[in-house]
Amino acid sequence: MIKFEKLTKSFGNLVVVDQLDLHIQEGEFLVLIGPSGCGKTTTLKMINRLVEPTSGSLFVKGRNIMEMNPVMLRREIGYVIQQIGLFPNMSIQENVDVVPRLLGWDKERRLKRVRELLELVDMDPDLYAHRYPNELSGGQQQRIGVLRALAAEPSIILMDEPFGALDPITRESLQDELKNLQSKLHKTIVFVTHDMDEALKLADRIVLMKDGKIVQLDTPDRLLRKPANDFVIDFIGKHR
Ligand code: ATP
Repeated sequence: MIKFEKLTKSFGNLVVVDQLDLHIQEGEFLVLIGPSGCGKTTTLKMINRLVEPTSGSLFVKGRNIMEMNPVMLRREIGYVIQQIGLFPNMSIQENVDVVPRLLGWDKERRLKRVRELLELVDMDPDLYAHRYPNELSGGQQQRIGVLRALAAEPSIILMDEPFGALDPITRESLQDELKNLQSKLHKTIVFVTHDMDEALKLADRIVLMKDGKIVQLDTPDRLLRKPANDFVIDFIGKHR
């Protein structure tokens, strides 16, 4: 589904992502984790070309992304970040259907889609579709951010510390919801976090990075049972 071949990104002399080889399967929930500055966000942003690679190749559904129009590419890939940036002067309905509107979906289809999405996360559309972002809690706003990324039915969702700013209880309930959504929707999700418990809970596979390289790529279970080296043992110990 997403294939990195010797993907490298440098900023000046600093190599941030170093010849990364990685194959993300269709429907997989892959978590990127590692110390601050190890290159997680840069790796994620190369998938939707918010960052251009210095060398190497990246294929999405078999297509070399450097040969694709970045705007078209981004329409196929949902993106959720910590500072979700809902438009304050637009209702929840309008915030969620930004991409479908750009794609020219008719009004009836957009209204139906937003209702469907709100129901997926147990937010009553009659209560919420016409509210404005400042009338929602932080957790509800972040939920709307996730729905916005899902709205145009992309097969890939990129998430960069999406729940990082939330209190622990809201964070845990959104993790549960995301896991539940994933079991229904089977998206390919690439998720960045620095929280090992979050990674262990959500991931099918975890990529532990250090200095732009992969130290270990494994299932949560194997990462815990068979850490590749002392760095992995130390990292798991410090981040749980
Ligand atoms: P964190 O967990 O702190 O968010 P990260 O693992 O996501 O970190 P990146 O954001 O990918 O790390 O950054 C990796 C390195 O690249 C850092 O040293 C950062 O300072 C550097 N970097 C990122 N973007 C740029 C840029 N636009 N120009 C110069 N250096 C950059």
